[in-house]
Amino acid sequence: MIIIRIHTLDHSPSEFEGTEPMSFLDVEDDGMMSFPSDVHYQLRATLVSGGVLVEGLVGTRIAAQCGRCLKTFERDVVNDKVCHFYENENITSDDLDISEDIREDLLLNLPLNPLCDDECKGFCPHCGVYLNDSPCVCKLENNDDDDIWDDLNKIKFEK
Ligand SMILES: [Zn+2]
Ligand SMILES: [Zn+2]
Repeated sequence: MIIIRIHTLDHSPSEFEGTEPMSFLDVEDDGMMSFPSDVHYQLRATLVSGGVLVEGLVGTRIAAQCGRCLKTFERDVVNDKVCHFYENENITSDDLDISEDIREDLLLNLPLNPLCDDECKGFCPHCGVYLNDSPCVCKLENNDDDDIWDDLNKIKFEK
C-alpha cells in the first residue's frame, strides 16, 4: 500500500519513494506477460490550496512475448506523468491511501498487444521468413495470387 501521512506534508514538495511487490498490481498472469521485478514509485506530495497534489512516476519491468515474431523480451514500463489532486473535503483521515490511483497509472501503461519493437515485422505468413533479419522472397515472386484464390474459395462455399 502507498500511504501518505497528511500531517507530514508541507507547502514545499515532500519526496517519497519505494517498492511494492507485483501482487500490488493485482493482474492475472495470462502467460502473455509476466513481471520479473517489483513496482517502483518515486512521488512527491505537496499541500496546495484546497488539497494535496501528488506527482511523480511509477514503473516496473515486463517480460512478454512479441505478438508478431513470438520472441520473448523484457522492457521497462514507466508512467512518469503521475498527477493526482485530492481535495481536502475528500480526505477523511491522516493516512491518505493512494494505492489504487498509482496502480491504475501503471496498468494504463501496460501494452495490450506487446511488441518487441514497434517496427517488428514478424514472420511472412507465406514462407515463414523472419522478416526482421531478411526480406521475404515469396512476396517478390507472386503478387498476392493466394488472396485471389482465397476469395474464390469463399464464394464457392457460401453458395
Ligand atoms: Zn517482434
Ligand atoms: Zn514470404
